[in-house]
Amino acid sequence: MTRPEIEALILKTVDTGRYQRPLLISGGGRDDRFQLAHFFVQALFCSRRTEGRPPCNRCPQCRSIKEESHPDFKFIEGAGEQGLLKIEQVRQLKESLNLSPYQAEHRVYLLEVEAIREEAANAFLKVLEEPPQSAVIVLLAPSERQFMPTVLSRLNQLRLPDAEAAVPETDRMNRILSLSWSRPTEIFALAQELAGKKEDPEKMDSFLIELVNSLNLALKLKAGTALENAPAAVRELADRSRDTAELAALLDEVLRKRQDILRGRVSPRLALEFLLIIISRPRRGRSSP
Ligand SMILES: [Zn+2]
Repeated sequence: MTRPEIEALILKTVDTGRYQRPLLISGGGRDDRFQLAHFFVQALFCSRRTEGRPPCNRCPQCRSIKEESHPDFKFIEGAGEQGLLKIEQVRQLKESLNLSPYQAEHRVYLLEVEAIREEAANAFLKVLEEPPQSAVIVLLAPSERQFMPTVLSRLNQLRLPDAEAAVPETDRMNRILSLSWSRPTEIFALAQELAGKKEDPEKMDSFLIELVNSLNLALKLKAGTALENAPAAVRELADRSRDTAELAALLDEVLRKRQDILRGRVSPRLALEFLLIIISRPRRGRSSP
């Protein structure tokens, strides 16, 4: 979608009052995401705007949104490591959501996050499901790929161009897909190698992100979206699972293990072994329940 198309969609969303469902703006650059978020809130608050028209960008409401000084416009940045939304932040948000707006008809919460952790996600799900009538939630993230599917399914998504960066074909992914249950020593050796040294957690995390990206693309393939130049590994991942539900469950498991690793709750090597075993398991028959 182009920028003017996205802006038109935002105006339509505001005009038809369909902003009660939280909005996720992903992709593009950070400035692009903020500009769109401001456009959305201005469209909601502008005192001079008429239906179908963009916000005036000049009235006191529009100006205070641009300066992020409007009392009904709150900006929250993910305070956890790697921009994760912390559970304390979700708790504070939950309390604040029930406050009445000061000037406008709504209070808008703009949250900039990389992802939402499992714990925070569970608390956040309730907020996302039924935000109070007066509250509008907008999430900004570089990519929607690291969001848990349970969270994503509750959001309206606007994706800026560039978000669909191709997943490159890598030896690492191909090696993982060549593993077999019948050769467990290979699985354990690769898990050990990927877990690497303790001083280099980024290397392992880059692998987990690669796996998450590949699974997300595989999920799209499985759901019937035609993808040009999808790497062989992505096609293979899609072929291996029976249906989208099974693939989504695997993606969920990878995201959960990544969070456990980031939180230091599990040994990276054991978590990787667990994931590699699931990935290399034989495909289940269609007749199984
Ligand atoms: Zn205005």
